[in-house]
Amino acid sequence: MKILVLNCGSSSLKYQLIDMATEAALAKGLVERIGIANPRLVHEKEGAGKVTIEAEIPNHDVAVKLVIEALMHKDHGVISHIGEIAAAGHRVVHGGEFFTKSAIVTAEVKKAISECVALAPLHNPANLIGIEACEKLMGATPQVAVFDTAFHQTMPEKSYLYAISYGLYEKYRIRKYGFHGTSHYYVTGRAAAMLDKPIESLKLISCHLGNGASVCAVDGGKAVDTSMGLTPLEGLMMGTRSGDMDPAAVSFIMDKEGLTTKQMESLLNKESGVLGISGISSDFRDIEAAVKEGNARAKVALDMFHYRVAKYIGSYAAAMNGVDAVIFTAGIGENGIGTRLAICEYLGYLGIAADTEKNNVRGKEVDFSAKGAKVRCLVVPTNEELVIARDTLALCK
Ligand code: ADP
Repeated sequence: MKILVLNCGSSSLKYQLIDMATEAALAKGLVERIGIANPRLVHEKEGAGKVTIEAEIPNHDVAVKLVIEALMHKDHGVISHIGEIAAAGHRVVHGGEFFTKSAIVTAEVKKAISECVALAPLHNPANLIGIEACEKLMGATPQVAVFDTAFHQTMPEKSYLYAISYGLYEKYRIRKYGFHGTSHYYVTGRAAAMLDKPIESLKLISCHLGNGASVCAVDGGKAVDTSMGLTPLEGLMMGTRSGDMDPAAVSFIMDKEGLTTKQMESLLNKESGVLGISGISSDFRDIEAAVKEGNARAKVALDMFHYRVAKYIGSYAAAMNGVDAVIFTAGIGENGIGTRLAICEYLGYLGIAADTEKNNVRGKEVDFSAKGAKVRCLVVPTNEELVIARDTLALCK
């Protein structure tokens, strides 16, 4: 059975076609610049290299059509008929309090996704457009929505409420939701397998460190706290996002700089974090190169990032009254050898100690804890697409 996994952004669409017999991706790709100048589709058949297809791509309907054509192409295709796609699984960013797990798309599900648009104005509309484009092109093929927020719905009130008027929570559902749920779910499951222990017996801290970054405390397989909030802005310092700061600083900056709410949101989401502090880049490879050349601001940015991740790990160890393993995943977590070491150095008091030799890996599952360390340190490459495909299969069986 083959499942198409789709992740639609406002002007992009990422996809993978996964064969569920082997759980391997047969093909994957990215449509970029939908609705703007110079759009293109970069498609890759497993083991056959990339092909770039340039075409008019005015909207997501056309983008999905091109993806299906690429998947059926005589040279770089992997299926001969659209009917071979048994179902499509869609990443949906915000499921609010409606969704604690994935759901087959129905009119009611689409209505609930649109009701969450206010909470994720950049993402949910694009996710819905992607779903509707597939519905048009794929007829009765089942569509499944998999939510970034669902895994975190097990958080207790004491974790997810903000200490503001309870009436604001009741009126607008202002609370912590958390994101990267499929990633935290996947890597904590893999960690339990690597440690050869039932997940129900483990206290895990998962650090998803990519352009967007979040930490999640998972006790017995259930998320009990996470660093992102109502939106992905809260929590860690990220590539371009500020993460935690005094909310009073927001109105202060707006007054002083004469900024509108939109401009302020953009400053905090797109011009802050590692980019804001270093002044050069949001990409950790650039930052690490600049540090080597003696760039002091890049060094502060990197130090701040490590320090803040370590603080979250410490606070989640306290929240769970212990921790068995810390997991590093996503671009920086999987590849940032120096970053993992620097974070672990803060955490000796918890019983965390890295083995520098074992830590010397990129993008591979490894336990890099020093011999005898009380807490295990793991690298686990994430695979959100596989979680989406598995959930889709389970709901369509
Ligand atoms: P997202 O999916 O959130 O866009 P990724 O998970 O792809 O982000 O992570 C992107 C980040 O990973 C970038 O900051 C990039 O610099 C970092 N990264 C990728 N490869 C390396 C590497 N070899 N060393 C350090 N950082 C890396």
